[in-house]
Amino acid sequence: MRAFCLSRTSQTVYLLLPKLPKQRTMTDTDKPMNFIQQIINADIESGRIKEVVTRFPPEPNGYLHIGHAKSICLNFGLAAQYGGRCNLRFDDTNPEAEDQAFVNAIIDDVNWLGFSWEGEPCYASDYFDQLYDWAKVLIKDNKAYVCELSAEEIRRFRGTLTEAGSNSPFRQRSPDESLNLLELMRLGEIDEGAMTLRAKIDMASPNINLRDPVIYRIKKLPHQRSGNKWNIYPSYDFAHGQEDAIEGISHSICTLEFAANRPLYDWFTENLPVPSIPRQYEFGRLNLNYTVTSKRKLKKLVDENHVSGWDDPRMPTISGMRRRGVSARSIRNFCGSLAVAKTDGVVDVAQFEHFVRDDLNTNAKRVMGVLHPVRVCITNYDVTSTELIPVPNHPNDEALGSREISFSHQIFIDKNDFSQDISLSRKKFKRLVLGDYVRLRGAYIIRADDLVEDDSGTLLEIKASIVPNTIGLDAPEGIRPRGVIHWVDARTAVDCQVNLYDRLFSHPSPGDGDVDFVAQINPNSLISITGCKAEASLGEALVGEHYQFEREGYFVRDIDDQPQLTFNCTIGLRDNWKT
Ligand code: ATP
Ligand code: MG
Repeated sequence: MRAFCLSRTSQTVYLLLPKLPKQRTMTDTDKPMNFIQQIINADIESGRIKEVVTRFPPEPNGYLHIGHAKSICLNFGLAAQYGGRCNLRFDDTNPEAEDQAFVNAIIDDVNWLGFSWEGEPCYASDYFDQLYDWAKVLIKDNKAYVCELSAEEIRRFRGTLTEAGSNSPFRQRSPDESLNLLELMRLGEIDEGAMTLRAKIDMASPNINLRDPVIYRIKKLPHQRSGNKWNIYPSYDFAHGQEDAIEGISHSICTLEFAANRPLYDWFTENLPVPSIPRQYEFGRLNLNYTVTSKRKLKKLVDENHVSGWDDPRMPTISGMRRRGVSARSIRNFCGSLAVAKTDGVVDVAQFEHFVRDDLNTNAKRVMGVLHPVRVCITNYDVTSTELIPVPNHPNDEALGSREISFSHQIFIDKNDFSQDISLSRKKFKRLVLGDYVRLRGAYIIRADDLVEDDSGTLLEIKASIVPNTIGLDAPEGIRPRGVIHWVDARTAVDCQVNLYDRLFSHPSPGDGDVDFVAQINPNSLISITGCKAEASLGEALVGEHYQFEREGYFVRDIDDQPQLTFNCTIGLRDNWKT
């Protein structure tokens, strides 16, 4: 077993995960192989590879989201299945948008999801020296040149999908001159934007990516890891394949939008003395309706304070989902259910919610919390007594244990579970009605006898009586409780706040067309209810532990809940997703 620590919480919680089985080929799985597994099997059979080596390569310019989780599960999952390895590699080639705080959050999130890598994480910035040397190799081989066209001119010279581009006037510059200029660029002696280093490939190529792409640009910015050492930074295209080659990646898996970059990826590894030849494969990215999965858009939500931060429980970020109470296992199960295909698609968010609920239903402890409390005075119960009643933590799983809940002469029930309308049918209202009976979950049957209201008719208190000897026993002859409701003992209950969440967007495809996605934020995506009452055991609730508040939904303690104990509603109880 491997233990994982859920850090960034006030308490430290350890989860034990089963070790993933190691196997070389896919034989004992009932799921059909996806196209990448088929490629890997063929590569193993033909001897092209000896070991499956993958990587997950986030740019540390934001937090990871549910889309990244698909890529993480795929890359780490394949490595585990084939007994290989998967690197966590930060693609930190653009200091403008990157931050060490994002690096830390990403490491945390991948670990929390249940994945680990050998040794330290890798960083593109660790290869800056090597990449620079390889840039010089290209220049010496007359395959790269320093160009003085502006960004705008480069765009104009590039041509269009239907028209060939035209050569830069600097294309014929001698290798020696380019080498000197590149060195000056590196030393910070050339102004930003004045020069770039470009690969010399083919300005008439039908693939625009091959029309002399920029491989180094000047950015006089300190880097979070290499400090002020560099004034130039490599482009994604120049960095990524070479990083893969250095790390011996066998299958470099990325999303479909990189398909057109693959010829360039291959061009670099073919034209440079790299230690291995990795291959790139593209799969369809995960899109969810009612959700945005773009770091740029998520960043806007954070920067403009539409949410409380990257880990706001409404965010589709891994840390947001964790704070919301989504389990790592349910994210893994959901990702495992997704097709790994060569087409993009939109997945119904209800499918994700189904996996979240399914896991919580199995693993969450049952407890009681009252969101809209009204006091019930039990008039035939001794005011000095407190009774402890043992109740199971889960109806179908003894392994989750049991606890004792207290009962005394005053309890709270939910206002919505009471009505004074005695004409309400038993079928329509299976809760407490004046003059009728209801069962308190795990405890007595009670009858509502009377009520106390203020001058304006607001309900202040219900007077009720217990039916003696009904804990764990059937109702006596002639008494038929309408249903079962939840409650807490007023003497021991803890006060708390409850945050109820709805989808962050009210539109299924936020930002589609000309609409600003921000305008489609659901104004009721967060409803905070204060003055809730929870059973005493929840005063000691651990962050990261999942609870079902009976009849309400699944809840988790918020990571940041001082001075008020706060529970976030992960999801309601009802599942609308049709399998
Ligand atoms: P975003 O569009 O959110 O900015 P990105 O692709 O720029 O995402 P990276 O940090 O570069 O973000 O992504 C790291 C890895 O995760 C890449 O291999 C990328 O292809 C993959 N990835 C990103 N978004 C998704 C998604 N929605 N579904 C599957 N994989 C994704
Ligand atoms: Mg990217």
